[in-house]
Formats: sequence, C-alpha cells, structure tokens
Amino acid sequence: MAECIFCKIAAGKIPADKIFEGEEVIAFRDVNPQAPHHVLIIPRRHIESVNELKEEDAPLVTKMILAAKEIAGKLGVAQSGYRLVLNTNRAAGQAVFHIHLHLLGGRTFSWPPG
Ligand code: AMP
Repeated sequence: MAECIFCKIAAGKIPADKIFEGEEVIAFRDVNPQAPHHVLIIPRRHIESVNELKEEDAPLVTKMILAAKEIAGKLGVAQSGYRLVLNTNRAAGQAVFHIHLHLLGGRTFSWPPG
C-alpha cells in the first residue's frame, strides 16, 4: 500500500527505530511510548487489522508473537511481565490500519484497561 506509513517503514522508505528485522516481520519502537518499552511488531505485508486475517495467515501471526517473545527477552521484561495488544478498529483505538502488535513493558499495568 503506497500510502501506508507502516508499509513505508517496512520498506525502509521512512526512518524508524527498528529493533528486529525478520523475513516477514519487523519491529520498531513506538514514537509515542506508553511504557518504558513500547515496541510495534508488524508484518511486512499489508494487512489492515485482525478482521482481515485469514486462516493461511496463522504462521505469520505466530511469527509476530514469537518475535514479541524474543524482543521481551532482549529488553529484560520477560520475567517481570509485558503486555501484547492488538487494537482492532476505531472503538479499540486503532489509528494505523496496518496490523501491529503492541509490546508494552517496563512498568506495572492495570486491568481492566481503559
Ligand atoms: P494504534 O492506535 O493501535 O493504531 O497504534 C498506532 C501506534 O503507532 C501508536 O502508538 C503511534 O504512536 C504509533 N506510530 C504512529 N506512527 C509511527 C511511526 N512513524 N513510528 C513509530 N510509531 C508510530
């Protein structure tokens, strides 16, 4: 998608603080962090949201979660705890319509979320 900001980050056309680069998945630090560690894990391929996922995307989604696990370990929050979030559509607060898994860590989170 030519206009998608996360597609541009994945293609290296606009800068981002990338901390993971795989064949199908990349991760970079959120520009507006909501925790000491706030990372976005995205597929290189444009998928708008969870609503557009298909059965055959299961391996890709697994790669996103495994990337999050690896990153959490590198950031030193695996044992203390971290939160993974997939905001889906407007009411959930999705602002960028290229699926992204938020990894938040480095502080204590409340539940239920706001
Ligand atoms: P969401 O509200 O779930 O769609 O999350 C979108 C996230 O993308 C927000 O936390 C933004 O701060 C973040 N974001 C938007 N543009 C960029 C960018 N160019 N680089 C890094 N993070 C971004």
